[in-house]
Amino acid sequence: MILHVDMDAFFASIEEVVNPKLKGKPLIIGSRGNRMHTVVCAVNYAAKAIGIHSGMPTKRAYSIYSKLQFVAADQAKYIWTSEQIFELLKGFNLPLNYASIDEFQLDLLSCANPVSLGKEIKAQIYANFNITASVGIAKNWLLAKLASKLEKPDGLTLIDDSNFEQVLRKTSLDKLCGMGGKNGQILMAKGLRTCWDLYLNLPEFFNNNPGKFDENPGKSIEKPKSISHSYTLPMVKVNPQVIQAWIRLLSEMVGVRLRQQDLISKTTHLWLNGPEIGNFGAQKTYQTSTNDGYEIYLRVLKIMTKLAFENPKIRAIGVTCSGLSWNTYQPLLKEESRREGLIMALDRINKRFGERVIYPAITALTQTNHDRRNY
Ligand SMILES: [Mg+2]
Repeated sequence: MILHVDMDAFFASIEEVVNPKLKGKPLIIGSRGNRMHTVVCAVNYAAKAIGIHSGMPTKRAYSIYSKLQFVAADQAKYIWTSEQIFELLKGFNLPLNYASIDEFQLDLLSCANPVSLGKEIKAQIYANFNITASVGIAKNWLLAKLASKLEKPDGLTLIDDSNFEQVLRKTSLDKLCGMGGKNGQILMAKGLRTCWDLYLNLPEFFNNNPGKFDENPGKSIEKPKSISHSYTLPMVKVNPQVIQAWIRLLSEMVGVRLRQQDLISKTTHLWLNGPEIGNFGAQKTYQTSTNDGYEIYLRVLKIMTKLAFENPKIRAIGVTCSGLSWNTYQPLLKEESRREGLIMALDRINKRFGERVIYPAITALTQTNHDRRNY
């Protein structure tokens, strides 16, 4: 059985936790800070209920309801929270797949009571992050994902042999993953209305979706070949300070992963993508290994000097650490040992609060300009 976790109105829910005054009022998350000249990238349920949805120009959203609450998207915060949820799910020691920023899948293997496990996962997410998730359980990921959508928000749905036909009959085809766009329209034009119609015509579509899973990440004894984080920016960026802030954040995220697995890395790799530079990749191996996000960041900056362009337009950034070994290093100098203690304390605090509570100041630049009137 597969268990699919889908966070409910993820970005908006995070913003409601950060600023509880927003809760329950129609709220839109803008791709950029200028509230009248951007696009809605996420909404809460109150906004959804009055017909506002993502992809809509904000101007149009305001014409539907002039008192909309507005927050500019803060990708770093959402990525960070997503990472923390992933870490929490690792604790269940089951094969785990990071499906998207707000979706995760667990292979339940021979779990005896999947529904109570689903309840436990929902409860732990709520206890740690104060936001809700909907869970779907079924024999494969396609059906599990569908199940997660059926009782949103805060839902828990099991599709098994006893309700398979009943659920598929009452669920319109466009709810099924991959059927929201053109594929769904073509099939619906042919007279297929529900998931059951598709099942009668194409049963194998529902049977061959095992999904992809990492091998038991919670228990891996073998060390990974590399650890990396990458991010595609919502738009092309040129400002070197903003790009450095993203590199700093990604370096820190890689550092956190290394420390969690008790690894250190010798080789740092930078990947950049942009309209002028295409795909740029370069790496450098050092004599000393590290798992310190700041040190990784400095190493990446050195690699960046190999770029032929002065301030190129950047669309996507990736930071990878390889040449991994187990961390057996004992700090010799007092200063080093203090820094190591500080890093471990930061990790604990960030883990405890579920999002970036204490974080290097430069990464604040990864946030778009917030409209302070909301605070
Ligand atoms: Mg979601």
